[in-house]
Amino acid sequence: MVKYGEICLRGDNRSIYEKQLLRQVRRRLSGFDGIHVIKENGRFLIESDDDDFDFSLAIPLVVKVLGVIGVSPCIKADCKDIANLRVQGLEYMKKRCHSLPSFTFKVETRRADKRYSIHSYEVSAAVGEAVIDGMQNASVDVHNPDVVLHIEIRESAYIYAMTEKAFGGLPYATSGRGILLLSGGIDSPTAGFLMAKRGVDITAVYFHSPPFTSERAKEKVLDLAKVLRSFTQYIKVFVVPFTDIQLKLKESVPPAKLTILLKRQMLKAAELIAANESCQCLITGDSIGQVASQTMHGIAAVQSAASIPIIRPLAGMDKQDIIDIARKIETYEISIRPYEDCCTLFSASHPETKPKASIIEAVERRVEGLEELIHKAVAEAEAFEFS
Ligand code: ATP
Ligand code: MG
Repeated sequence: MVKYGEICLRGDNRSIYEKQLLRQVRRRLSGFDGIHVIKENGRFLIESDDDDFDFSLAIPLVVKVLGVIGVSPCIKADCKDIANLRVQGLEYMKKRCHSLPSFTFKVETRRADKRYSIHSYEVSAAVGEAVIDGMQNASVDVHNPDVVLHIEIRESAYIYAMTEKAFGGLPYATSGRGILLLSGGIDSPTAGFLMAKRGVDITAVYFHSPPFTSERAKEKVLDLAKVLRSFTQYIKVFVVPFTDIQLKLKESVPPAKLTILLKRQMLKAAELIAANESCQCLITGDSIGQVASQTMHGIAAVQSAASIPIIRPLAGMDKQDIIDIARKIETYEISIRPYEDCCTLFSASHPETKPKASIIEAVERRVEGLEELIHKAVAEAEAFEFS
């Protein structure tokens, strides 16, 4: 049984969101034969023609479909008759808890089928009684039970006691499109994930500076993109050659302004790609105050480089919170591989922490041929697709 959360609240759009989510769950399971995903009043039910189908293979895939809040392995009762629910509820608990010396439980019933004549609390009481009578090691605790036995009365009745927590959010690709500036660090993949989770369709852009950044740095970024793909099912990555732009700026501008000016060129190039890819925003892994270029002054000084919104989903997050998410989505181990990124090679030891936008823009205007270099880099970008 697949549970989804927030999209239930979304008025007229609900059916669009549900259909998109249903399509994504089906697509995620398309590698299995004889699997059916059925929509039923606020839930999806995944069934197999094969009685021996091992659902533990399917669950980890469905858990990664964005918009899903949980997946419960459950049994479908033979009939909804209360006597039968007592028998099957007890059987289920025996299978699950027979080896425990003792355990506490409660029964929670949800009556989605309002035609069903017995009230939820009566069903819970009847099944609870059957468990107490049938299992010596069971006792009831309604406040803090070890096990919650769920009964859901729908077209059929479903019995389960465990929910594998998923990531929640909105179905992927239901909230417009964005270009993710993806470096090899911890932050930008996390930022991309958070936006994908809000339904934004992500295309990644990485600025690569050979020979100052190695092939392995590029591999690392592609590996990160593949992890994001495990949530989005498809991702495209543009690798933009950035060396000429970096060298040009390094010879033309004061070292303390280099970082912020490099960032501006990345945003400009990303915006060109956004236009080609029909994306409405840019996404970065900036977190306020984390490094010199991410002060409020730094953010103000890069703003004018792009005319479309720059979204910074990590703006208010602490590093540890970002790391916690990166671990959960399994980008962290890749991000900490020790390959340099271009900014560390080209950053000054003392970058300005309070750059002034007007001065930065004036310095930038004096660099000859910069716009041409940006267009050239975008034209020469290498595209990778993972599906
Ligand atoms: P991250 O952990 O994401 O690398 P960071 O803490 O290293 O971030 P910066 O290097 O200042 O911070 O980069 C800030 C943001 O700029 C990154 O999160 C990313 O969105 C973007 N960015 C930086 N370098 C690159 C690059 N080489 N290619 C693509 N985007 C980049
Ligand atoms: Mg970085």
